[in-house]
Amino acid sequence: MLDQPDFLNAVAAGECVLEPLELLRRCNALEAALGRDRARERAKGPRTLDLDILLYGGELIDLPDLKVPHPGMTERAFVLRPLIELEPDLADPRTGRPFADFLPSVETQGIYPAGLAALY
Ligand code: ADP
Ligand code: MG
Repeated sequence: MLDQPDFLNAVAAGECVLEPLELLRRCNALEAALGRDRARERAKGPRTLDLDILLYGGELIDLPDLKVPHPGMTERAFVLRPLIELEPDLADPRTGRPFADFLPSVETQGIYPAGLAALY
């Protein structure tokens, strides 16, 4: 959604001892703790915090509340660029295709490195 203020996005990687659904539950609890109220927001609009699970190792998960890899991840520059910065050779476990292959198709989306915000 373009009709909203700039927002900050980041990708983090780590080891996890939680099962995927428990990880999602904890992410949702963190969102709520930081002031997110899903009942009062527009879809894809501004929110205080949105924690998405992009990947869980190489697992494919297709549950009503949890799809992994995250279905929209290859269409969003603000996801792909920081992901590839972190793991340049990472491939999509659904297809084996490197995520870097999708970069040209999101080139026109307006994102910039947070440290350079003053220049934009
Ligand atoms: P957005 O799609 O913009 O992240 P929400 O944060 O409101 O929107 O998420 C909507 C629903 O997406 C959540 O209720 C959650 O159960 C579901 N969901 C499905 N797959 C994932 C995932 N990989 N990571 C986070 N949420 C997911
Ligand atoms: Mg989300």
